Amino acid sequence: MGWHWRISQEHCTGCGICADLCPHDAISMPREAPLPKSGPEPCTGCMICVEECPFDAIDVSEASHAPHPENPALKL
Ligand code: SF4
Ligand code: SF4
Repeated sequence: MGWHWRISQEHCTGCGICADLCPHDAISMPREAPLPKSGPEPCTGCMICVEECPFDAIDVSEASHAPHPENPALKL
């Protein structure tokens, strides 16, 4: 079973800290993008992003559904 991260669009400021700190390249912060996107590698569930997000805007949990075809970080 894999892991997925999810962002609260209401709370995320797009600061990019999670993308900078993710040690597994599972989050990327494209230039001029408002919110982080999936990185090239899968999320390992290490929870660093959850602990370090200053706005409590990211949540990580075990995937229980197939990943969204355009954004593997989202559940269908
Ligand atoms: S660290 Fe938090 S607020 Fe900043 S981009 Fe990531 S989820 Fe959004
Ligand atoms: S839980 Fe770990 S691997 Fe997954 S996105 Fe957050 S920092 Fe990256």
